[in-house]
Amino acid sequence: MLYQRSSALFKEAQEVIPGGVNSPVRAFNAVGGTPIFAKSAKGAYVYDEDGNRYIDYINSWGPMLLGHAFPPVVEAVIEKAKQGTSFGMPTAIETEIAELAVSMVPNIDKIRFVNSGTEACMSAIRLARGFTKKDKIIKFAGCYHGHSDSFLIAAGSGAVTFGTPNSPGVTQGTAKDTLLARFNDLENVKTLLASNKDEIAAIIIEPVAGNMGCIPPVKGFLEGLRTLCDEHNVLLIFDEVMTGFRLANGGVQQLKGIHADIVCFGKVVGGGLPVGAFAARNEIMDYLAPIGPVYQAGTLSGNPLAMAAGLAMLKTIKADAGLMQRLEEKTAYLHRGISEALNKHNVIHTINRIGSMISVHFSENQVVDFDTAAQGNNDTFKRFFHGMLNKGIYIAPSAFETWFITDALTYEDLNETIAAVEAIAKDL
Ligand SMILES: *Cc1c(COP(=O)(O)O)cnc(C)c1O
Repeated sequence: MLYQRSSALFKEAQEVIPGGVNSPVRAFNAVGGTPIFAKSAKGAYVYDEDGNRYIDYINSWGPMLLGHAFPPVVEAVIEKAKQGTSFGMPTAIETEIAELAVSMVPNIDKIRFVNSGTEACMSAIRLARGFTKKDKIIKFAGCYHGHSDSFLIAAGSGAVTFGTPNSPGVTQGTAKDTLLARFNDLENVKTLLASNKDEIAAIIIEPVAGNMGCIPPVKGFLEGLRTLCDEHNVLLIFDEVMTGFRLANGGVQQLKGIHADIVCFGKVVGGGLPVGAFAARNEIMDYLAPIGPVYQAGTLSGNPLAMAAGLAMLKTIKADAGLMQRLEEKTAYLHRGISEALNKHNVIHTINRIGSMISVHFSENQVVDFDTAAQGNNDTFKRFFHGMLNKGIYIAPSAFETWFITDALTYEDLNETIAAVEAIAKDL
């Protein structure tokens, strides 16, 4: 593959954009080399500026559940744009998507739309603090909840990839209110709750972790968190920015039958446009301005183009009863294929998978939390990443990321992917 134009564009970008990218995970720092500049995408494929085609497993880091340039989403955005792109006034489509989201997700009465997953999580903890009148939160090492100050403490993928889990610029004052727990370790949470009695406003968690690879909760973990939250008058926040409308129509709450108090959304809910949202039962949501005391706002929140894209996306997901099962079957097929290919060449690995999320770890241990995720062999991953890229398979340029399976992937695409793994496995 030739990357001449990408290289030239990257050089130019670095002159005017820090590191040449508008989000650090797009850089190739963790794997070496030069980021590839995307030009267009359709279905399961992304095309770069040099004309190379890739089978895409990043899918804009999650939103493209149905593939790139999904026609109903594209049409909806075009039609909306003709009517004006933003008003700063309420619009009917905001209620329409809110009604649809509330109908799909268990245990929520009201939802507020924002512009990113970061904003959703940031607003969710402010709301939780205001509602409970307590200050501290518990988060889990390796979970990512966006880049707002409170969360940049052992924050998974992007932050970890760059070896700066605690970003300069986050004050001690803010950091002291974020307590860290180990994912899948209930005892650890119990200890924190006991030693910070009546101080914890919320526990925030990716109920299926996706930002340290894909790590499903062990049996009883989420149930245990729910019980602990009830016992200690703590709100349970599910950050379903990655899992919402992906692992089930109603996200992990539905999949695992566990009620969260506040749920955060992003990615799929925007169909590829900048959207986030947070939702809860009336009692909590009515604590928000303009009817409640907790302030939260956004000039472009509920933007008509973004709402049109999200609405088309959610409508399609709701109408397609077989979607989640198809995605799961494709993911399982890929899992088996990759595993066999790696085993054939004695490459030590562990694969985690749930629904349409999958991650390949070059580790002999089970990957159940951040520490075990970090034990993977990064040199092997680098070779794997570049090998796959060279074969036209685009996975995330970090060992801490989940691959996203889209409905646009055909079994031919999956076979091509497995064949690529097999071809490069002997050099790993
Ligand atoms: C991507 C992600 C976020 C942040 O969303 P942005 O839209 O990038 O701000 C928050 N939480 C989780 C679980 C995510 O995967």
